[in-house]
Amino acid sequence: MTDETDRKDKDAATDEEQLPPYVIENARSGRSRCKTCRRTIDKGALRLGVLIEGPFGAGHMWHHLKCAARKMIDRVEEAYALEAWRQAKTPPESVPDLEQLRLLRSAAEQQRKQRKTIPYAEVDPSGRAKCKQCGEALAKDSVRIALGKLVQFGNQSRVAPYTVHPSCVGDALEEPDTATEAEGLVTALRSNSGDVPDALLETAIAELELDE
Ligand SMILES: [Zn+2]
Ligand SMILES: [Zn+2]
Repeated sequence: MTDETDRKDKDAATDEEQLPPYVIENARSGRSRCKTCRRTIDKGALRLGVLIEGPFGAGHMWHHLKCAARKMIDRVEEAYALEAWRQAKTPPESVPDLEQLRLLRSAAEQQRKQRKTIPYAEVDPSGRAKCKQCGEALAKDSVRIALGKLVQFGNQSRVAPYTVHPSCVGDALEEPDTATEAEGLVTALRSNSGDVPDALLETAIAELELDE
């Protein structure tokens, strides 16, 4: 293969260890961090290394294999085509079928499409959750409101949904970490709550008890 020849030529020219484009291996320590989910990769967990040419030379950026499948299946397919596990110092005993990883990817895509825009109203599917404001149960089939709340991940923050009774929205909006504002809330609920029947949604909106 020409690739192989190129690599050998470079080896001779730079006298450096030439790294393969991909490695699939069990993490050799618990120190690497997944560039996709930003969490630590546990020792022994399957990880994909993608070769990056950085300002200080080439090195592998690591991803949980499953995270890579969800976010960059093309790279995973290339790595499988190259049988990148052969590049591991100790090749893993087994790797998941590529087909299984493709399924992960389509499930993740579907989830992204279904992710709702905060704030939204939804019909409680289970009756098992509690209102994050008053702590009382959210009744099955009742309408609940998801507001945005700032959550910290290390030095990053993002907005996650937290669900409350319509009548608890007023109090929830007063909380310091609530990222949703009263202004424009009703309009946003009407446009973001496609699954809720109109009559139910309007009843919930009437219960919001916003002091304006
Ligand atoms: Zn990850
Ligand atoms: Zn409540």
